[in-house]
Amino acid sequence: MVTNVSCTVSNCYFWAQDNICSADNILITADKVAGAHSTMALGQESWDNLVEKIGETPSPSMAETACYTFKPR
Ligand code: SF4
Repeated sequence: MVTNVSCTVSNCYFWAQDNICSADNILITADKVAGAHSTMALGQESWDNLVEKIGETPSPSMAETACYTFKPR
């Protein structure tokens, strides 16, 4: 299990100094899924329900994955 997440997306609400992610949990998924669920807000349904709803999302390459937890500052 990963306990420390390094991230360089400095305009994210959860980004902290020295390129650390300060979120309690993050969800990484395939780009196509993030786009399809872009109107869902994490606060409107439980984390488990969200992950279950999205399901497994194999991705053909690193470039087609995204952090779904990203929230602009
Ligand atoms: S939520 Fe995602 S994009 Fe935001 S700081 Fe954490 S890893 Fe980076």
